[in-house]
Amino acid sequence: MSRTFSIGGIHPHDHKISVNASIEDFPLMDMAYISVSQHLGAPAEPVVAKGDQVKVGQLIAKASGFISANIHSSVSGTVTAVEPLPDISGNLIPHVVIKVEGDDWEESIDRSPEIVKEVKFSPKEIIDIIAKAGIVGLGGAAFPTHIKLSPPPGKKAEYLLINGAECEPYLTSDYRVMLEYPEQMLIGTKIMMMALGVSKAYVGIEENKPKALKLLKKIASKGYKEIKVVSLKKRYPQGGEKQLIDAILHRQVPSMGLPIDVGVVVQNVGTALAVYEAVQKNKPLFDGVVTVTGGCMTEQRNFRLRVGTNFERIMFAIGGFPKDAVKLISGGPMMGKAISRMDAATVKSTSALLLLTEEETRRGEEGNCIRCAKCVEACPMGLEPYLLNRLARAGRTDDLEVNLIQDCIECGCCFYSCPSNIPLLDTIRLAKGQVLKIIRSRPKK
Ligand code: SF4
Ligand code: SF4
Repeated sequence: MSRTFSIGGIHPHDHKISVNASIEDFPLMDMAYISVSQHLGAPAEPVVAKGDQVKVGQLIAKASGFISANIHSSVSGTVTAVEPLPDISGNLIPHVVIKVEGDDWEESIDRSPEIVKEVKFSPKEIIDIIAKAGIVGLGGAAFPTHIKLSPPPGKKAEYLLINGAECEPYLTSDYRVMLEYPEQMLIGTKIMMMALGVSKAYVGIEENKPKALKLLKKIASKGYKEIKVVSLKKRYPQGGEKQLIDAILHRQVPSMGLPIDVGVVVQNVGTALAVYEAVQKNKPLFDGVVTVTGGCMTEQRNFRLRVGTNFERIMFAIGGFPKDAVKLISGGPMMGKAISRMDAATVKSTSALLLLTEEETRRGEEGNCIRCAKCVEACPMGLEPYLLNRLARAGRTDDLEVNLIQDCIECGCCFYSCPSNIPLLDTIRLAKGQVLKIIRSRPKK
């Protein structure tokens, strides 16, 4: 029987129209624009300068600070600049700009198709390799993986959960990874279990992906018995960390708490593949699977795409900007971000580029709150979105904190359910940022 979380959630149409598109290598670009801030935490420090020659996989920016991640070149060629360039929201971030010349990889990277099963490293060595390879969580937050695999003193992991839910509409990159790299992903899971010292892991997959469920169950039952593949109900946001833990282990992460507070570490299937490639193939993280999809596209695609590819280049590769597209989103339609700059480039955690038509993005006119409580029913964190919206509009930060705005996971279920089309997520997200700033500025007790 499929499992699910206990409160809230919605059932949007899944629109997985790119589900049958196999992963294709994206054609080599002529220029790469690689951000030094592709992760949660401090930006990396560039270690190359204009005129330097680089190879694919070479370190170009070094992690700085406790929470940070290394950045490697995704291409070979000449560095033409290290300069501030806009990200998808238009914020200026230092980038390493590289003119692509050939496709010359670091010799240390094993590019053979052979699957390496035996893991020869100690837990500490695994964590060091993952840190060196610049791996970050590919489920959205881009938190450095080596830190997540190193619980703080006093906390101990009992379980590793792998998020294969891919509950956001349209996205199919994780699904394709599960179908096309199933064993590598399970070895990556085993490696993370070794790093954490846990003996049990679960891979949770929504029941609308029966092929992936069947395949991974079959492979796990033969060689990876410590990893249990479980079916999850199709329900958004099933892939949220707290919802996944509730569904699989029936444990509740406390308010303002982290999964490790209940003995759990959650990673996503893309991260498991990246860990496999780093530890078993010595390949840093400089590419990933990206879904390019939308109602206006004649051909749906899943690309293996190098980090630093700009969106204009992606448009070129799919035959030009579809004339019916009115909105571009990086990520899913529920939690993704609108792309305001076509000259911005992909980062490690880019999972999708959605090109949506008027029909697919239609928002009704905003009306008054009719106190129907549909937003409360839909909230998977047990919050009262209509109230948070009211308090946010009035700037009442103290009351927002009392009403636990900081627990909002920005899933958008409230906005989706609101018959009055009140932009609850936009208001709540903005106010949450302000409240978190206040909380973080307080002296630690
Ligand atoms: S966006 Fe926040 S408030 Fe709205 S449903 Fe999700 S968790 Fe609840
Ligand atoms: S769903 Fe919309 S109209 Fe209904 S209570 Fe919430 S904010 Fe008000």
